[in-house]
Amino acid sequence: KKALLEVKNLKQYFPIKGGILGRTVNYVKAVDDISFSVYEGETVSIVGESGCGKSTTGRAILRLDEPFAGEVNFDGENLLGLSKGEMRKKRQDLQIIFQDPYASLNPRQTVSQILEEALEIQNIVPAKERRQTIADLLHTVGIGAHQMDRYPHEFSGGQRQRIGIARALSVNPKLIICDEAVSALDVSIQAQVLNLLKDLQRKFQLTYLFISHDLGVVRHISDRIIVMYLGKIVEIADKKSLFEKPQHPYTIALLSAIPSTNLGQKRERIILKGDVPSPIDPPQGCRFHTRCPFAFDRCRVEEPKLYEVEGTHRSACHLVENGEYDFTGGRA
Ligand code: SF4
Ligand code: MG
Repeated sequence: KKALLEVKNLKQYFPIKGGILGRTVNYVKAVDDISFSVYEGETVSIVGESGCGKSTTGRAILRLDEPFAGEVNFDGENLLGLSKGEMRKKRQDLQIIFQDPYASLNPRQTVSQILEEALEIQNIVPAKERRQTIADLLHTVGIGAHQMDRYPHEFSGGQRQRIGIARALSVNPKLIICDEAVSALDVSIQAQVLNLLKDLQRKFQLTYLFISHDLGVVRHISDRIIVMYLGKIVEIADKKSLFEKPQHPYTIALLSAIPSTNLGQKRERIILKGDVPSPIDPPQGCRFHTRCPFAFDRCRVEEPKLYEVEGTHRSACHLVENGEYDFTGGRA
């Protein structure tokens, strides 16, 4: 399998200015040294509470905010080395879909105008073929071509998200980043849009990076799942291992919040207390130690590496370093 996207040691620090001179006095460490790959044709999800850095990661990959440090290799090329103009061209290959399509669809443009504009910017379809292309695109996402001269407010939330997907598809992307793409929709509509995304993936050989706060949502669509906490990756695994054998207390806590989840016979539910600490001065050692029911001395001083659990399953918890722990409430 070929890695389409390779994120290496990515950091996104936002400066905090202060004092009369307006100097940078500190940083919000929104994403703090994360690495992962996304292979061609797969769906990788990034999951975590709000403020964990998952959306920031998506935006940094696309350079919607310039990353602070690291590498973003896409199709063998480091995107962070491209000029602004080159990056603009590259956006044909990397698209993003946001949570609220209404905010990203111009209310004064009809659907056909919105899609036409996307086709025009990338200049890939001759002008006289555009209307037919737009009709085909809308059909692909389940919207009748007869609706193309309507305005965004005339559609439901689910339909608007379909229009957002059509716009992303219009430039033939290789990778689509879905940032909370179904979070604003009703559960039944969520399932329809997720199914559509799956169908489109098969049809057009798309690769997805799916960002969500909800493990329940990503369950059906993901091949692999990355769990983030306070700017760090804490666990990374294929979907089956993550759901059946979670190896990080934070992941177990997220799973515990989904009532129907069977955590396996040996794991107890973990109910998270307190808020996520500030990413300006994150806790020393393991960033999760202030909320972790298993924290011990080492956790407060030493940052855990992403230890190998089994195969490609990794967990950043000292307790799994030697496989000495089964999360049943005590050492194995
Ligand atoms: Fe909890 Fe320590 Fe593991 Fe961090 S390293 S998750 S504090 S047990
Ligand atoms: Mg977000």
